[in-house]
Amino acid sequence: MDLGHRVCIRDVNPHIVCILCAGYFIDATTITECLHTFCKSCIVKYLQTTKFCPMCNVKVHETQPLLNLKIDRTLQDIVYKVVPGLWDNEMKRRQDFEKMRGLKGCDEGSIDGIMEDSDDSSVTTQHIFMHDELIHICLQPFETGSDDKGPKYPSQKFVRCSVRAQVFHLKKLIKKIWPHTSKQEIVVMCNGELLPDNHCLKRIWLSHSKEINPPLKLQFWTKS
Ligand SMILES: [Zn+2]
Ligand SMILES: [Zn+2]
Repeated sequence: MDLGHRVCIRDVNPHIVCILCAGYFIDATTITECLHTFCKSCIVKYLQTTKFCPMCNVKVHETQPLLNLKIDRTLQDIVYKVVPGLWDNEMKRRQDFEKMRGLKGCDEGSIDGIMEDSDDSSVTTQHIFMHDELIHICLQPFETGSDDKGPKYPSQKFVRCSVRAQVFHLKKLIKKIWPHTSKQEIVVMCNGELLPDNHCLKRIWLSHSKEINPPLKLQFWTKS
């Protein structure tokens, strides 16, 4: 799906704005009974005092409304893609919030009882990222020379890591997968654009990928 610049934001707005706060969805969360969507924090707060959907009045759940909420990451990613700057602003807001609370910036504090639409719990990345959304990436050495004597190392590698992993984490990973690069300086690129060490995968994916579905293709080469 190409969500390039031909999409007129006015046409899309009704589908990506939360009626509770009149802002764009943040952590889009859908009521499974009626499929109406709101920001996670908006609907969770709303359901503290009622058990009916604010849009259609369907009863969300007799006793535990949070059980019938589901986070919709795909919709949220569409929102981030069509609204320029929204993701950056939200991340900045969260960082400021965490700084204010004196946290080190790891745990967002998930709300119990809301199902993630991820089907996978076998997370093998660093444990501090274990509750994060994951992204599939494809790492490829950027081939320049023609003196290859057969592939000694993988020509590409698919990995799954937290959307919060940054480029410098990837460099460490690359050095593990392609040990001959371990002593060299690595440069990572996406669509021919150099990626700074402190950019995280989510940011790269949102700004570089035209597709809604990963894997996100990244190339690297070594400066020698
Ligand atoms: Zn909202
Ligand atoms: Zn509803």
